[in-house]
Amino acid sequence: MKSVNKYFFKSKKIPIDKFISNALYDKNYGYYSKKIAFGKHGDFVTAPEISFLFSEIIALWVVSLWEHLNKPKILNIVELGPGSGRMNSVLIKVFKKFPIFFKSTNIFLYEKSKSLKKLQQNKLIDEKVKWIKNFNSIKSGPVIFLGNEFFDALPIKQFKKVNNIFYEKYVKLEKNSKIKTFLRKISLKTLKELKKFNLIKNQSFIEFPKQGLKELDLITSAIKRLNGGLLLIDYGFLKPKGSDTLQSIKNHKKNMLFDNVGDADITSLVNFNLLKTYFNKKNLKTNNIVTQEFFLKKIGIVDRAEMVSKKMSFQEKTKIYYMLQRLLSPKQMGELFKVIFTFKLKKKFSVGFI
Ligand code: SAH
Repeated sequence: MKSVNKYFFKSKKIPIDKFISNALYDKNYGYYSKKIAFGKHGDFVTAPEISFLFSEIIALWVVSLWEHLNKPKILNIVELGPGSGRMNSVLIKVFKKFPIFFKSTNIFLYEKSKSLKKLQQNKLIDEKVKWIKNFNSIKSGPVIFLGNEFFDALPIKQFKKVNNIFYEKYVKLEKNSKIKTFLRKISLKTLKELKKFNLIKNQSFIEFPKQGLKELDLITSAIKRLNGGLLLIDYGFLKPKGSDTLQSIKNHKKNMLFDNVGDADITSLVNFNLLKTYFNKKNLKTNNIVTQEFFLKKIGIVDRAEMVSKKMSFQEKTKIYYMLQRLLSPKQMGELFKVIFTFKLKKKFSVGFI
């Protein structure tokens, strides 16, 4: 079988989100099933892979949320899409410095890829973590969901308006194994869904995270049942610019979307205003969306860097500050990455947001 054919299975025409889904998450041939995407030898680098300081700050934020809740005896923490498991291992290291807190925590990992789950199991072998498939298995205590670069890895749908008619973007496999896009008229049901989220007004190109919202349905219903919240950190924008934000990355370089299928990562920019509208519809409260720089600085990442680097050699110090710049500089991750916190809590929790 020609290599790209397997991402189409028997059907030769599929919507773009289905194609992305197959390319990234197919059990045998999907990108996340085949290789380790992260780090120097992978295709891209995420904040927890850049510096442990990032995960330390997230850990402190979780501990202060627990204090804000008057130190409940059970706190469920679910990491969404934990990748290499690096952030989780740092979270646990920090959590252990707060023994009463640590004793109260149930730590869960929510991971779709079997090979990444194995990697996480190896990294966290001695730790009290569990992998979770269904959030309904959490029976008591508030729940905090954490996701770094989780949402941007979920496939999106794309739509285009031509002569006032909306079409959905599909891909098809041609006889020569070339992948081509084409448009198909959308159903009334889909149009209604886009309208519900205020997406079509003055827009001729629309991106819609249908699968992502399905995941959020599960997450938000757990939050509503148990109380708690969801912290998402992702690459994205406040208002959509009406352009195609799908990007494919291989070896830290841009790749054409239909080249190296299954060997390159595919992500899209997250529409944070859409998330906010969605959470609003679910009757959850949401803090003001802030940038990664704002959030990390508010919780004290710069002081923390100073503290840990005090006893370091000049060379190590330089490395810490270089990595800190990558996380904070508006030209690097500081501004493009945004943070959103949605919650159902008795009292608003604004640490990191004001
Ligand atoms: N949080 C990590 C990895 C981000 S990559 C980091 O910052 O380094 C996205 C992660 O989400 C991967 O672990 C991927 O396998 C996982 N993932 C994607 N879709 C998922 C889904 N529907 N359910 C659970 N995990 C998913």
